[in-house]
Amino acid sequence: MIQEEINRLKKAKNAVILAHYYQHADVQDIADFVGDSLELSKIAASVDAKIILFCGVDFMAQTAKILAPSKKVLLAVSTATCPMANMITTEQLRAYKMDHPDRKVVCYVNSTAGVKALSDVCVTSSNAEKIILRLKDEKLLYVPDQNLGNYLKDKYIIDMECWPGYCCIHHQLTVEQVMEARRMHKDALVLIHPEAPLAVLKQADFVGSTSQIIEFASTTSAKTYIIGTEKGILHPLQKKNPQKNFVLLTPSLSCFDMKLTRIEDVLSALQKEDTEIFVPEDIAVLARKSLQTMMEWS
Ligand code: SF4
Repeated sequence: MIQEEINRLKKAKNAVILAHYYQHADVQDIADFVGDSLELSKIAASVDAKIILFCGVDFMAQTAKILAPSKKVLLAVSTATCPMANMITTEQLRAYKMDHPDRKVVCYVNSTAGVKALSDVCVTSSNAEKIILRLKDEKLLYVPDQNLGNYLKDKYIIDMECWPGYCCIHHQLTVEQVMEARRMHKDALVLIHPEAPLAVLKQADFVGSTSQIIEFASTTSAKTYIIGTEKGILHPLQKKNPQKNFVLLTPSLSCFDMKLTRIEDVLSALQKEDTEIFVPEDIAVLARKSLQTMMEWS
């Protein structure tokens, strides 16, 4: 059985598997740790293993490599990338900084290593509010997600420009979809990820990162929840709360790149070790500073 072979190789090679909540259910089930970007970054930095096999997209494996430079980091599928992270290049950010030397750069963890290296601090959707509040008296640029940026700007009075990037999965959510879902499920609570547009977030009962959505749904007494984030989250939600109902806000909440990784790819990456991630040292040093500042502040 494929799971047995993966477990055998993991042990033989002293490897750990980290998987994001947006991965397929069988990939999550074979992983040693499943989490959101912040949780997985912390584990990558501290885990005792020779090999980290990341099941997610490229920026996550890069982050693991930056935080654990002595470990071999593999990405299960080397072409899995995040379209939002690619919506800002290092050249564009460098040019912006030249024109706006007074603005500090706050960078969503969904970004390339080069963009992190040019930023003052990273954030994830779990800790963005806490970190932005520490910087509330500064002039800021937030990259690359306009929606999380606009959500923060709406909530707090801050002088922050937002890069016009977006997650193609969450950006397409609409107010009409929320209203329709509420009509269909009268007593349900609506939980939405902050990568959705502000007008949609204003319709939600709770706005939070994937781990915060899981925590909220697991500790609230409602029976039914409408979920406004990638469908992979339904697996941990249902596992933790078998007596509750979870309804995806729309079936299109499926990330093409997150879903590229199949269990066969996990086995192949462990067998061949041919999908290693490298980050040039000069970039890694600077990117590590932005990530470590995030860890200290969160
Ligand atoms: S769900 Fe959105 S932010 Fe996450 S990897 Fe896919 S495109 Fe990127």
